[in-house]
Amino acid sequence: MVVKKNAVKSKPAIKKIVSSKAKNTVVKGKVEKTAKTYSVLRGMRDILPKEERHWSKLYHVAENLAEYFQFGRIETPILEEASLFVRSVGKGTDVVDKEMYIFEDRDGTKVCLRPENTAAVMRAYISNGLWNQAQPVKLWYLGQMFRHDRPQAGRYRQFWQVGFETLGSADPAVDAELIMIAHNFYSDLGLPVTARLNSLGVPAERERYRNELVNYYRGKRSYICGDCKARLTRNPLRLLDCKNKECLEVKETAPQIIDYLGAESKNHFMKVLEYLDVLEIPYQLDHTLVRGLDYYTHTVFEFYGPEGEEGAQSALGAGGRYDLLAEQIGGKATPGCGFSLGLDRVVLAWREYMSKNNQELPKQKMEIYVAQLGEEARRVALRLVNDLRGSGIKVGFNFSKGSLKIQMELADHAQVPYVLIVGQKEVQDKTVIIRDMESGIQEVVDQKKVEALLKRKLGHS
Ligand code: AMP
Repeated sequence: MVVKKNAVKSKPAIKKIVSSKAKNTVVKGKVEKTAKTYSVLRGMRDILPKEERHWSKLYHVAENLAEYFQFGRIETPILEEASLFVRSVGKGTDVVDKEMYIFEDRDGTKVCLRPENTAAVMRAYISNGLWNQAQPVKLWYLGQMFRHDRPQAGRYRQFWQVGFETLGSADPAVDAELIMIAHNFYSDLGLPVTARLNSLGVPAERERYRNELVNYYRGKRSYICGDCKARLTRNPLRLLDCKNKECLEVKETAPQIIDYLGAESKNHFMKVLEYLDVLEIPYQLDHTLVRGLDYYTHTVFEFYGPEGEEGAQSALGAGGRYDLLAEQIGGKATPGCGFSLGLDRVVLAWREYMSKNNQELPKQKMEIYVAQLGEEARRVALRLVNDLRGSGIKVGFNFSKGSLKIQMELADHAQVPYVLIVGQKEVQDKTVIIRDMESGIQEVVDQKKVEALLKRKLGHS
């Protein structure tokens, strides 16, 4: 049996990994370091507290938008059956052909770390019977995606996306609502972005266009780069993505998809644009915007950051309509539209933009600092900190510092209006010193009355 075979196999394999890589050995209770130190895998990264404040703000903005526009949060597994993405995102796309983390599970199933989440959300909609509920169903997610991409600034192998998806409506107002929500996400951060829009119509229209494009590029074969020559057979729409100088010239006179759309598709797209005009959301029409994934129909869009920032070069977010996705993955026909925003890139572009404009995120302010002198005092101070936290007062402290001078310097640095000081005498008298940091005036207060007094002083109700 497969499971048994793997179970037997895995033991020596683990032994080998440990003995070849981790060469730290424990001798007489001490770790002896002989060789390997670990760093993060290529294309992966740690997000440290310095950046985390920006990330928290993104989560809040996304959560508030979801609540306001009534999207329910959905969590889908990171691991999915690989064919889910092969069928939906499509063969011939970079994501499927080059970038999926794909492997065989212990039972032989081909699985992958999700490279994107729209197909997984649609899978969940189908497998949980959400089509039985009132339509459309509005869902949002926040999570990590995985693509074995060439790492560079703003391009990682594990990255975060926040996404909003509306399933079960073909109305162009839904496309506009989603573009509005994505636009609000950036404007709530104070980050100016430009939306670029295009329509890919329906498959028959796209097919006609693809053929025209291929005919056109065949005639220009000697002017285009090697990559584009390969795209000509593999994925012709991606010819429009090339940033190579000669290819840009060829692209200028290439046929445009808008001329191949039928009346219904044109009408859908015009409606979306009209709604965006009503909402006063600025956009640029970009006939070269084709998106990398196969499942898109009709409206597609991308968001770019301000000139000169990280986001000006690569999209900060993207989305579109995918009316055929449900059928591609075995469900009944269900129209859908959505977007996903690349949070790693948003943080980069946003921080760069803020620093250029001398803006900073407001820091969480401490209201008081607790300083202690001596072991007994430390115990009293410890309890004080915990009691005050319970009453909603923001307390700073550092119990690994014994010197009062250093603790006062830390309090000064934190710019708190009051410091509580507990020393030997205060322990015995069951009191605390409250020092007003501006006037320097100190008062001695009964420990039991500290909380109420501080609340009054700090203006807590
Ligand atoms: P896509 O599904 O390729 O349209 O991606 C949606 C958004 O996710 C993009 O606009 C990027 O902001 C972000 N994104 C895509 N790939 C990566 C990556 N490798 N690293 C960081 N962000 C990414």
